[in-house]
Amino acid sequence: MTQPAKTSSNPLSLKERMKVPRQHMLEQPPLVRACNFTEVNLGYSEELARQEALRCLECAKPACTDTCPVGVKVKEFVQLIVAGDFLAAAAKIREDNVLPAITGRVCPQEDHCEGGCLMGKKVTPLGIGYLERFVADYEQKHLDIRNLPKTPPTGKKVAIVGSGPSGLTAAGDLVQKGHQVHVFEALHELGGVLVYGIPEFRLPKTIIREQIDYMRAMGVEFETDVVIGKTITINELMEEEGFDAVFIGTGAGLPQFMGIPGEHLNGVYSANEFLTRINLMHAYEFPRYDEPMLDLHSKDVAVIGGGNTALDAIRSALRLGAHKAYVIYRRSEAEMPARAEEVKHAKQEGIEFRVLTNPIEFLSDGKGWLNGVRCMQMQLAEPDASGRRRPVPIDDSEFDLPLSVAVMAIGTSANPLIQSTTPGLNTNKRNYIEADPMTQRTSRRGVFAGGDIVTGSATVILAMGAGRRAAKSIHEYLTTGTW
Ligand SMILES: Cc1cc2nc3c(=O)[nH]c(=O)nc-3n(C[C@H](O)[C@H](O)[C@H](O)COP(=O)(O)OP(=O)(O)OC[C@H]3O[C@@H](n4cnc5c(N)ncnc54)[C@H](O)[C@@H]3O)c2cc1C
Repeated sequence: MTQPAKTSSNPLSLKERMKVPRQHMLEQPPLVRACNFTEVNLGYSEELARQEALRCLECAKPACTDTCPVGVKVKEFVQLIVAGDFLAAAAKIREDNVLPAITGRVCPQEDHCEGGCLMGKKVTPLGIGYLERFVADYEQKHLDIRNLPKTPPTGKKVAIVGSGPSGLTAAGDLVQKGHQVHVFEALHELGGVLVYGIPEFRLPKTIIREQIDYMRAMGVEFETDVVIGKTITINELMEEEGFDAVFIGTGAGLPQFMGIPGEHLNGVYSANEFLTRINLMHAYEFPRYDEPMLDLHSKDVAVIGGGNTALDAIRSALRLGAHKAYVIYRRSEAEMPARAEEVKHAKQEGIEFRVLTNPIEFLSDGKGWLNGVRCMQMQLAEPDASGRRRPVPIDDSEFDLPLSVAVMAIGTSANPLIQSTTPGLNTNKRNYIEADPMTQRTSRRGVFAGGDIVTGSATVILAMGAGRRAAKSIHEYLTTGTW
């Protein structure tokens, strides 16, 4: 093990740091939070953040930065926490990440920075996500954003289509290079999945709005209720509205269904619709807002799927009064794509997991409404193309489960609107936009794309990584003119 850097103000030896336990973040108790939409995790105090930061081994070659898709300089920002300069720590994160309060909450750190943390090889890794969240929240409370420094204008105009994490990241990086950046969003709220998909108890809407206010203060312009491909096309943006480059970050929001009998019944929702009704139509603010479709009191609700979307939907259903709340998943818990923390929280709150179970038919009450689901028990065979063990049905294992509401969370695909209205824009056979993985350039000169619309459903931080790469190559294109 190497010695800590001389610049470090950390008074602990490396051995002592290994002995400090990871600082626990306070949470709302499970039975309390299962009845409200207030955030589950309550954040670190200044004292806890300092304690946790002291654990950093300050590696000479920090794998935490190498494993972060946007390359946050973890060691440097953690050293600034140790030194007690929280605003400088926030500024350090912002050099690479324009949405720290968001990634600090929803990023799968176990697959990136914390997965790379050397300390994790022997004990629990440094709580990098918790520290990032602490610093970002501190900045939101203490930084006056009215006088952020502005880069002299280059005179170039960039259109960003979609205000999800890929678009916001590209916008933030480009405005700092002095370009005029205008974000077009189809919905009436900014933030993409962050706002219409992820519920309040994991990512409060005020946090997203504050991060967007910061970007406004940096100079980014936003326009909602504009559907590119319908209100105005990409060609019109470039040929008539004077945009020199366009970034497409429209996500993969088209719901998928299983194609089994009964999916048309009232009471069967796509996760997209279900969560949008909660998040954007304010069902989570009952009784201030009344969303009659989602009166779940005394109803049995199941979500089909095992990803973050599935858990967000079923934990929301519980908070909306569901009597029983099930996750129905065809593989075992080990294969579940949802973050481990979400699975743990869901179980604590009383969600029932029916794993190795697959629906084969939704059952009707005879009047067009759902009143049950027929399922089969599954077992795992050899791994399939995804590398996960393939679920196969067990003979004669059918059973029925009474149900009033079912939510399909088995994945999404690309919305075809922009692809079909932009001549010369190449797509793959699943209708995702083709873009170079290093430069995010598409087949159309001046048009770049990234995030879920290129890769299919992925994660916030991977979408942000694509936004950063796109911003870098858009800047190169605008300054050199070479394609
Ligand atoms: C419920 C749910 C929970 C999730 N939880 C997590 C999590 O905990 N951690 C994690 O890392 N990832 C999570 N994800 C995945 C993550 O949110 C996505 O991978 C990420 O948001 C993709 O970002 P994006 O910028 O590509 O697109 P999106 O976030 O989908 O944003 C695209 C935006 O483009 C807009 N748009 C679409 N078409 C047009 C158009 N024609 N004109 C103008 N605007 C348009 C859309 O309205 C939307 O606002 C979750 C996803 C869901 C659905």
